[in-house]
Amino acid sequence: MTTLLYSHEACVRHDPGEMHPECPARIEAVLTALAAPEFDALERRDAPRASVEQIIRVHPQPYVDQLLAAVPESGRRGLDGDTILSPGSGEAALRAAGALCAAVDAVMAGEADNAFCAIRPPGHHAEPDQAMGFCLFNSVAVGALHAREVHRCHRIAVIDFDVHHGNGTQASFWNDPDLFYASTHQSPLYPGTGAPQERGVSTNICNAVLPPNAGSEEFRNALRASVFPALTRFDPDFILISAGFDAHKDDPLANLQLVEEDYVWATNELIAIARHACGGKIVSTLEGGYDLSALARSSAAHVRSLMAA
Ligand SMILES: [Zn+2]
Repeated sequence: MTTLLYSHEACVRHDPGEMHPECPARIEAVLTALAAPEFDALERRDAPRASVEQIIRVHPQPYVDQLLAAVPESGRRGLDGDTILSPGSGEAALRAAGALCAAVDAVMAGEADNAFCAIRPPGHHAEPDQAMGFCLFNSVAVGALHAREVHRCHRIAVIDFDVHHGNGTQASFWNDPDLFYASTHQSPLYPGTGAPQERGVSTNICNAVLPPNAGSEEFRNALRASVFPALTRFDPDFILISAGFDAHKDDPLANLQLVEEDYVWATNELIAIARHACGGKIVSTLEGGYDLSALARSSAAHVRSLMAA
């Protein structure tokens, strides 16, 4: 069946500044790679805006109001040292969260087996009441709660192979035994959370840490040894992927040594688990990835696997 590709031109207009690694060219690099003839079968859709109702399932309304009110009419406004708003940031963040909700709707409606959201800003560092780490709204968490609220999916899992720990997603899921979050990430590294002892209210959190310079073998072993068994035990009704590609060996923000083939392997393993647990239903979303060439090749490899599911 089809794989859906959600994106929106607004995601290019969030511009945190010339020297910022989370740059508009990231989306252009991904979409250029996915414009190759081998991706002709992707069904491309514009991401709608998330509604406030959808976002406040994760973020309190005052946070949403204050964030959107802080978006400058011109110039830039820093929320912290590296989380910076430009005039296009509010629209981009709404489209990013909206992509996840629309992708969940489409997959639940049987319009496709799976979907990839090529969106920015990323979201997994955004805590319920705190923007941080380039992230404004936690789009993957918004998608997860949308699946539950609207589609009555009871148990939702998010698997995060970005090189950074998704502290925001973990915080959103911590107290809810029907939400599962698993992450592979480099440690030590920003944001400093994600120790294996952080297990959530009912061992619904699974953190697998990788030392600097770890590569394919350590990554695959961590997924095999802890993440996949925990995910299988959780028995999800729906799987979302926080697909960051900054664990790639060429990425400038971290020190892991993954290659495209590792993303193919991880994606295929997740597809196999999803097939058994939940009829193959997967929605994946872009998180980090800051070497434009590695990002383009890795996201293409990931989407190629989704299409072959
Ligand atoms: Zn990252």
